[in-house]
Amino acid sequence: MHDSTRTRPPVVEPGPAPADPLSAPSDATVLFDGDDLSKWEHPDGSAASWTVENGYMEVKPGSGPIRTKEAFGDVQLHVEWMVPTTVEGEGQSRGNSGVFLMGTYEVQVLDSHENQTYADGQAAAIYGQYPPLVNAMRPQGEWQTYDIVFHRPHFDEGGTVVTPARFTVYHNGILVQDNVELTGPTAWKERPPYEAHAPALPLRLQDHDNAVRFRNIWVRELE
Ligand code: MG
Repeated sequence: MHDSTRTRPPVVEPGPAPADPLSAPSDATVLFDGDDLSKWEHPDGSAASWTVENGYMEVKPGSGPIRTKEAFGDVQLHVEWMVPTTVEGEGQSRGNSGVFLMGTYEVQVLDSHENQTYADGQAAAIYGQYPPLVNAMRPQGEWQTYDIVFHRPHFDEGGTVVTPARFTVYHNGILVQDNVELTGPTAWKERPPYEAHAPALPLRLQDHDNAVRFRNIWVRELE
């Protein structure tokens, strides 16, 4: 875990970002269309205070994470994100954020364009568990896309996991996680075991002290 000598995934050029965001399909729930954070809140229930301007939201460092007011289980999720154009910091300190399904299982957001870090912590890693198959990162200042298929874990009556959580992820249209099974919640320097939780929980975006931007977030429920 977090082994800095582990072989890193090969770099694959995804080509330029599309000029326009991908439209939400008719059966999707739009979580952020560029106008406001009315579908979001801080975990304590206070109004989401991240900056909204020019059609995107931006992490307000120090304000804490935000989560959806609505809860989700199995989903197809589309997220667009951009790391700061000004390159500051290294490794995990450069353009770090995260997309946490059920507030618990992180698809890492990081500036992984010419930025070395441990393989299971770079962009599109399932944090601390699975490096991406390839590094499909566009340069700073360009929009990135995640298209995520997530299946929630299932628990028996006693709270033991019966079916683990699974992720399939496309980064900029390129397959980077192929139906991987999680060992439990994602975490730093540890592999905590599953703890039984509700079948639907809010989606969370991480404040890791970097001004990462997000736009065009929509979700299709699969259950
Ligand atoms: Mg992160």
